[in-house]
Amino acid sequence: MVSAPLLEVFCSVQGEGPFLGARQVFIRFAGCNLACDYCDTPTGETPHCKVERTPGTGEFTLVANPVSTELASELARSYGKVHSLALTGGEPLLYAEFIKALDAGVPLYLESNMTLPEKAREVKRRVAFVSGDFKIREVLHGVRKSYEELREATIACFKVLKSSRERYTFCKIVLPSRFDAEEVLANVEAVMEYINMVVLQPVWQDAPPPEEILSLQERLLDVVETRIIPQTHKILGMR
Ligand code: SF4
Repeated sequence: MVSAPLLEVFCSVQGEGPFLGARQVFIRFAGCNLACDYCDTPTGETPHCKVERTPGTGEFTLVANPVSTELASELARSYGKVHSLALTGGEPLLYAEFIKALDAGVPLYLESNMTLPEKAREVKRRVAFVSGDFKIREVLHGVRKSYEELREATIACFKVLKSSRERYTFCKIVLPSRFDAEEVLANVEAVMEYINMVVLQPVWQDAPPPEEILSLQERLLDVVETRIIPQTHKILGMR
């Protein structure tokens, strides 16, 4: 039996990227291999997984961790009509075995920090949508690997999970108030042949000045379709 520590299972709408508004089940994994400045995912012990049975109520039941793929699949199926099952975190790729064993009856939508290419290889035939981060240097502190190592791992990850007839892959770049536009451009050029689109996502309550985001978008549009899309679920007060 395959199991994993989960933080929560709930049904809501996708609040980021080109699938904005799509109704999804979310499985949020505990644990991550990075430590981004803006991270809002709790760390530490996770004895229980919170399950919101009725979407939007904020009322949870608790399920003991680790949760089996059988139970996670059953919970995911219980919400009815959804576009896909979003695997989020934390870092879902830490649990590649779990992802492979899921049987939720809907396409899998992976939200990943794209730094674990070997794990990506294990799940690449299972995921239909990839929301892949390309972390910028300015948001990473307290990580053992150098930025150059993480950058190479990210490029390798995008190559493994590249867009295809079976998979839609986009690159999400979270922008804090200060960033190096040249480095962002170089990062996008390194993955542009593997993706359908770039999404620039300003950090909630620490966004760059509008003219800087628009200037970056203009430059990236020479390379690949690029959209500026904030986190809309926070505006709506949704999870
Ligand atoms: S990759 Fe995601 S979960 Fe991991 S530290 Fe960064 S924001 Fe948090």
